[in-house]
Amino acid sequence: MESLKVENIHKRFGDHEVLRGVSLTAGRGDVISIIGSSGSGKSTFLRCINFLDAPSEGRITILNEELKTTRDRHNQLAPADKHQLQRLRTKLAMVFQHFNLWSHMTALENITAAPIHVLGLDRKAATERARHYLQKVGLAPEVMDKYPVQLSGGQQQRVAIARALALEPEVMLFDEPTSALDPELVGEVLRVMQALAEEGRTMIIVTHEMGFARNVSNHVMFLHQGVVEEEGPPAQVLGTPRSPRLAQFLSGSL
Ligand code: ADP
Ligand code: MG
Repeated sequence: MESLKVENIHKRFGDHEVLRGVSLTAGRGDVISIIGSSGSGKSTFLRCINFLDAPSEGRITILNEELKTTRDRHNQLAPADKHQLQRLRTKLAMVFQHFNLWSHMTALENITAAPIHVLGLDRKAATERARHYLQKVGLAPEVMDKYPVQLSGGQQQRVAIARALALEPEVMLFDEPTSALDPELVGEVLRVMQALAEEGRTMIIVTHEMGFARNVSNHVMFLHQGVVEEEGPPAQVLGTPRSPRLAQFLSGSL
């Protein structure tokens, strides 16, 4: 079963073509790491997958349902059916580098907002769900009533992961989830992500954590200047790269 199929994504910002035909297919339970230097288009690609950025070109299919698109007056793709977009978006939950928790809401409110307002759960069911996923990311129930500023970066990111899980999405998208954390807090977030991968969740992760990419993912994609320069099983891509640019990137000189 294909969870997600992304075909031939192009993205232009003005004259700058940031993505030049990027495709990706994720089967159920696949864990795909996307690596590449800063500016190679990794975040833009993730944002195009759930239409946070409208791609200029391309096709996105979630569980065999293709997202219907039209063209706007700038000739960019635009969703043709807002209701379909909203429904499909709930199947793709995003975790950001800077957590993006709502600062005026408690952890509980952060987690229950979408289940209540988007999925239509009642408050009691949403709270139960929040409790369940907080436990899953290893946070104590007391965390529920805390505001983001009262939490460490690692705790905030785990709340953000619980918030994503609470949508019970088909695919989780992570954009450098540990890059903003103090080094001593990286491990707690990576351990949660590894546990999710071991449970068979479908995940697409932009990361600079090569150990994680090698040990946890089953596919690695190297983006370079908006194209997939090389991809394949982690041992091959990270161990015996064919592309000189990838070799340079892995040695830290790109
Ligand atoms: P990465 O995540 O790999 O570091 P990004 O996807 O953030 O790369 O950016 C890729 C390129 O697209 C960069 O050159 C960046 O400046 C450009 N870019 C990203 N977002 C925008 C935007 N909203 N407007 C114009 N240029 C953008
Ligand atoms: Mg980025």
